[in-house]
Amino acid sequence: MSFRFCLSPRIPLHMKAPRGIAILGSTGSIGRQALEVIQANPESFRVEVLTANRNWEELCQQAIAFNPNAVVIGDESHYNELKDILWPLGIKVFAGEEALCSIMDMEGVDMVLTALVGYAGLKPTLAALRCGKPIALANKETLVVAGDLVTGLAKESGINIYPVDSEHSAIFQCLAGEFHNPIEKIVLTASGGPFRGKKRDDLATVLPEQALKHPNWSMGAKITIDSASLMNKGLEVIEAKWLFGLESSQIEVVVHPQSIIHSLVQFEDGSMKAQLGLPDMKLPIQYALGYPNRLANDFPRFNFLDYPTLSFEQPDMETFRNLRLAFDALQKGGNMPCVLNAANEVAVDRFLKGSIGFLAMSDMISDVMQSVPFEGSPSLENYMASDAEARRRAEEW
Ligand code: NAD
Ligand code: MG
Repeated sequence: MSFRFCLSPRIPLHMKAPRGIAILGSTGSIGRQALEVIQANPESFRVEVLTANRNWEELCQQAIAFNPNAVVIGDESHYNELKDILWPLGIKVFAGEEALCSIMDMEGVDMVLTALVGYAGLKPTLAALRCGKPIALANKETLVVAGDLVTGLAKESGINIYPVDSEHSAIFQCLAGEFHNPIEKIVLTASGGPFRGKKRDDLATVLPEQALKHPNWSMGAKITIDSASLMNKGLEVIEAKWLFGLESSQIEVVVHPQSIIHSLVQFEDGSMKAQLGLPDMKLPIQYALGYPNRLANDFPRFNFLDYPTLSFEQPDMETFRNLRLAFDALQKGGNMPCVLNAANEVAVDRFLKGSIGFLAMSDMISDVMQSVPFEGSPSLENYMASDAEARRRAEEW
């Protein structure tokens, strides 16, 4: 299994010093919810580093509220504004992509929550692992792009990667106490998104506003479009392969519109375990940050009587081709998932800007996958080149 689990005896977090957390992408949907979790558990967690790409005002407000050791703003043009406000408060300010990587080495960083979006997560995640810092991983694109390098480095350095994605957290929770038992298969549940049940004719003219309305989860724009196109589930299939050391034949997807069962594991004796709860990302965030402890909270509780029917459907891969493309990329291996991811990032961006339609996203990703040269065992440089080439072709498409 490529995933190394922490098997240390259970020590209540509050009996140790609070864990110093670096949140990469603190102004996003996951980042903000992580701050709520930290605020509710000051005896368990403290904020050591906060980072954002462009939203310097929110980053500044967060820093004033949480008093981290340092902040990093991706867009260097906002460095001076932030520095003028935060240096007098004793908060260090850095800017740019390199700072995002070098900050991982800070002594007070005990764990890194990767809550930034897209390919941009790859370098800082590798940097954190090189510095020996455990990862709470929300940024699934990193594992899609270079899962072999990331999990290989984690294994080599004996560093754990804790899943934040709700499906993978569900599987991780089902595996507690079972780490020695081989997995026969896993079942990832998918809500089906806002267009569940629709056919290609219905989807030809859908607008970004319609795709941005997710029935069960409130998330950043990119993952919301990915959920509507089922690419999110495709990325999660690849993420699961690397986190749990599985073959693609061991990973199934089932549509479960209520999003109550977050995913399931089947063991070799046929027994299945599932993790259930109301859809709320704060639970998987808290579980990853606090592992192996479960921290008491006042999140709303699930009641079976409010959900007399939990239903399940086969995913429609004819209409939602992205899920099939992701399985294809996983089976092909090498740089293909990286190419799929890059083409998809451009596709989502172009769809949101109105330059291509909803169905064209899959056509474009498929064309780019067929046109970028295949690399069977890519190095980091090969992945970077494949990403750049796929983006170039997707922009020109
Ligand atoms: P978001 O768009 O709401 O937030 C993204 C954050 O990353 C922001 O703080 C932004 O400033 C920062 N960022 C963006 N581009 C960056 C760059 N180039 N360099 C540095 N920082 C950058 O996204 P989100 O919905 O919070 O999702 C974050 C990640 O978590 C994604 O990989 C997503 O797939 C994953 N995830 C999200 C959810 C969810 O409920 N939102 C659930 C599961 C997994
Ligand atoms: Mg998910």
